[in-house]
Amino acid sequence: MNFDLSQEHQMIRKTMKEFADKVVAPGAIERDRTKAFPKEIFKQLADMGMMGLPFSEEYGGAGADTISFAIVTEELSRACASTGITYSAHISLGGAPLNLFGTEEQKHKYLTPICTGETFGAFGLTEPNAGSDAGGTQTRAVEDGDDFVINGSKVYITNASYAKHLAITAITGEVDGKKEISAIIVPTDAEGFTVIDNYEKMGLNASNTTELVLENVRVPKENLLGKRGEGFRQFLVTLDGGRIGIGAMAVGIAQAAFDRALRYSKERKQFGKPLSDFQITQFKLADMAMKIELARTMVYKAAWLKDQGRPFSKEASMCKLYASEIAMQIADQAVQIHGGYGYMKEYEVERYMRDAKLCEIGEGTSEVQRMVIARLIGC
Ligand SMILES: Cc1cc2nc3c(=O)[nH]c(=O)nc-3n(C[C@H](O)[C@H](O)[C@H](O)COP(=O)(O)OP(=O)(O)OC[C@H]3O[C@@H](n4cnc5c(N)ncnc54)[C@H](O)[C@@H]3O)c2cc1C
Repeated sequence: MNFDLSQEHQMIRKTMKEFADKVVAPGAIERDRTKAFPKEIFKQLADMGMMGLPFSEEYGGAGADTISFAIVTEELSRACASTGITYSAHISLGGAPLNLFGTEEQKHKYLTPICTGETFGAFGLTEPNAGSDAGGTQTRAVEDGDDFVINGSKVYITNASYAKHLAITAITGEVDGKKEISAIIVPTDAEGFTVIDNYEKMGLNASNTTELVLENVRVPKENLLGKRGEGFRQFLVTLDGGRIGIGAMAVGIAQAAFDRALRYSKERKQFGKPLSDFQITQFKLADMAMKIELARTMVYKAAWLKDQGRPFSKEASMCKLYASEIAMQIADQAVQIHGGYGYMKEYEVERYMRDAKLCEIGEGTSEVQRMVIARLIGC
């Protein structure tokens, strides 16, 4: 067993750490306040070849592995979790289903502009009445000649305002009395397609979260992604990969909170000595460091299993669940160690707490992860 990152992974870590510290971190507080989408940062990430990182060079990607994707997501999230979730969704929700289930023609047409950064990747699954129970989809795609005509709505969709197209799930019929759910690629400029960007969120303010309304949206049948009726299975597979991204994002936020707490505990003096001299603070920091170490190892293991082509659903759920929960705990403790200052935006730790909460909700809530793990351990 070898726990060392390869030279290539170390290189990516170093490059992304510098980029995150110099380019991403400085505007994070301001973007959180103004809700400005980090478009300029993504232009630079595209120039660095990061936007199609794990996809084949044939489609404009960099041909890297899932561990590299986890490293990039963690480093971006450490500096600004809004940037981190945008990147993670772009790759694992936008690009991955096209890469996994698309035809050659679809990959060239839709995956390539995602890899080059010409468009952002997005994925429309959740609906007002279909969240954890995503099979409860009500959006319908009805055949009409060579087209599908789609009606319905989606909620909380990341990146859609900046996507030229995205895959959505819709009911395409009924088989043995059960809904037949398929994935269909829809151009966002199609007539009848509206992207609404007006949520007031708790955190991740600089990320783009949208509502989609589809009214008689007509797309050619060739836009079907993968086989008809496979939409439900496809999104489960897609979410497995996405959970590694959310796990990495949570590790990034936890690391940022820990770094701040450690630094502040050495600077702040009370009762004549730094907070870090009190054993209670030391124990808090020791627990934080241990949890981050474990969460990161879990993320890497899930990514490694995926890269080996081995089953990784259980490990992806476990890493997402654990990393999300420790990110919340660590952000909470980082605010506590900062005392009153921690409650102020300037010290950033309150943002980590607001941003970390999404990790316990998106791509399957913590309860859903426990349900997935319970099923996979044979309950
Ligand atoms: C910022 C943000 C970005 C998002 N991005 C995307 C995106 O890009 N694409 C997309 O498709 N979706 C996206 N989502 C949606 C996200 O995946 C859902 O919010 C999530 O899956 C939960 O669904 P829900 O909100 O409907 O909650 P619900 O399913 O209504 O759950 C409410 C509560 O009930 C619990 N619960 C539900 N069922 C059970 C059960 N059987 N047993 C025990 N407890 C249960 C849940 O765990 C939760 O605590 C995003 C959400 C947010 C907030």
